[in-house]
Amino acid sequence: MATIAFIGLGNMGGPMAHNLAAAGHRVQAFDLSAQALAHAVAEGCLQAASAADAVKDAEFVISMLPAGRHVEGLYVSGPEPLLDLIAPSSLIIDCSTIEADVAKRVCAVAAERGRDFIDAPVSGGVGGAQAGTLSFMVGASAAQFGRARPILNVMGKNIFHAGDHGAGQIAKACNNMMLAILMTGTCEALNMGVRNGLDPAVLSEIMKQSSGGNWALNVYNPWPGVMDTAPASKGYQGGFQTNLMFKDLGLAMDLSQQSEAPVPMGSAARALFSLHKAQGNGALDFSSVLKLYRESE
Ligand code: NAD
Repeated sequence: MATIAFIGLGNMGGPMAHNLAAAGHRVQAFDLSAQALAHAVAEGCLQAASAADAVKDAEFVISMLPAGRHVEGLYVSGPEPLLDLIAPSSLIIDCSTIEADVAKRVCAVAAERGRDFIDAPVSGGVGGAQAGTLSFMVGASAAQFGRARPILNVMGKNIFHAGDHGAGQIAKACNNMMLAILMTGTCEALNMGVRNGLDPAVLSEIMKQSSGGNWALNVYNPWPGVMDTAPASKGYQGGFQTNLMFKDLGLAMDLSQQSEAPVPMGSAARALFSLHKAQGNGALDFSSVLKLYRESE
């Protein structure tokens, strides 16, 4: 069993840290939010007084933070850069969804200081984090991937080696752009059906068993009341915030710009989430983008 520092215990990090503790690892947890930290301690983690305290004697350091600036701040540019405090023998696994360029930059600084930093963003939502069935998309050397794998296996079901450093983040940006397109498309189709007299639950079942089936429809139905477990049926609380989807679409747009890959569907999805966020829905789960369509009823 390993000693693992876990930093960032929010919607995703909380259940991921819990699964590691439940598997018998010593999980030294820290979050800036006292509430998130208390919850993780109640779920079997050990309370650290600070991020610096969490990484003491840790063989693995896992971070699950909102965005690139948080990750860069934590490891490199903040008041107490963790890279200087983490043992050279530790493996740093950043699971946050951030810019591939930032991941590569932090990795390069880490390498200069003799530390191993890899990117391992995830997919599968809060449900996947709780069930330990996340997909991990890892950007790392083969040796680093081999070392991370047993730990990632505790939190996930599908562990992919996407390529070298930064490749995990590129895969994640592609995936989430696809998810945004699927979610907005699902909202559009459901709303049109309901406007034309269909029951959303019946239409959902029809599309799930037909060629319109997709992850957003199958496991994350955006229509309130259709799927008990989905954030839509819980007032769009918890889940994956619109703010975070908006951030991820920005990452996809940056990649498209840099590589000159055309993304007309992704651009349309970004415009919809941007509008939805501007209307004050940033903190709601991203499936609440359905409101854009229903508002004008
Ligand atoms: P969240 O906002 O619920 O949690 C982030 C946590 O990080 C918060 O508890 C916050 O207090 C903490 N934090 C921020 N800065 C910190 C610091 N310097 N030190 C310690 N703690 C700090 O976000 P989330 O939904 O858990 O998402 C985390 C990451 O996972 C994001 O990059 C997101 O894009 C990605 N992600 C989320 C989902 C999802 O369904 N929610 C799915 C896949 C990937």
